[in-house]
Amino acid sequence: MADPTGQQVRRNRARRLAISRLNRAKSQIRTLIMGLNPVITADVVISNQSHDYQLTDFQQEQLILAANQSIESALEVSGDSPSDDWLYSDQVEGAYRQSTLEEVRDFNSNVAAAIVAGTALTLLQSEPIQTENIILSQQYREELRKARIASFAAVKGVSSKASAQVSNRISAGIRARVSRTQIISDVSDRFDVAKSDIRRVIDTEINTAFNNAKLEATRQISNLTGLRSAVVHISALSTTTRPNHASRHGIAYTVEQQLSWWDGNANRINCKCSVRSVLIDDSGDIINKDVQEQFKQESEFFR
Ligand SMILES: [Zn+2]
Repeated sequence: MADPTGQQVRRNRARRLAISRLNRAKSQIRTLIMGLNPVITADVVISNQSHDYQLTDFQQEQLILAANQSIESALEVSGDSPSDDWLYSDQVEGAYRQSTLEEVRDFNSNVAAAIVAGTALTLLQSEPIQTENIILSQQYREELRKARIASFAAVKGVSSKASAQVSNRISAGIRARVSRTQIISDVSDRFDVAKSDIRRVIDTEINTAFNNAKLEATRQISNLTGLRSAVVHISALSTTTRPNHASRHGIAYTVEQQLSWWDGNANRINCKCSVRSVLIDDSGDIINKDVQEQFKQESEFFR
């Protein structure tokens, strides 16, 4: 499974959006720096010129402020919380919604397969779960809001770090009396770091939204139907998969176990893994063994 969450298109779209907006901020900051008019005095050594920017403290503060605002507004993190049409709302909500719909479908198909197989199930409701039951619930809206806030906070973290580093390079350059070109080059290096940070954060946040939605839906549907569920860990099993992620592939865990594993030891960072729910009978055995077997066989294939 190259991409167990199946969110690559959303991740790439969000990445492209972030990178092009960061490039715009970089070019705005470049313009700000080129707008400065330092007095250049040549040193005895020809190559060693001194650029005296002659800025008052206030002017320098305004320059730094403008640079920070460029970065903040590029990533749309100026406020304290995300608006409904925040930059990545579509991607995060899209991932969350898709995952919930998939879980409803998987759960209904698990129940149908168990009934066909003659497994005795005690259901609180005999009708298949309707997606509206979940999507329109207060709980769903609340969890979705949390996902949006969490991703906003993560992107804001990237913005704050980038702003601090860019400001630092500008101030240091002015203090050291280096050329505008040199300051721009230093700033550009910090933007490279910011781009790598935002790619990681976007991948992590979109996959986290998808996986949390799945676990939340599994839990919610279990409560609605009275049926016990577990989740089978699905790893990408790629060359970059961490061994402690790959070793979980095909193994079933409770929703709580899976959540606490993901939330520990930076396991979420750059994690491509996902889960698939299965039903559990009264004695704690997995009813939908075939679902689990399917993933285990894939793991054999990749070994
Ligand atoms: Zn993983």
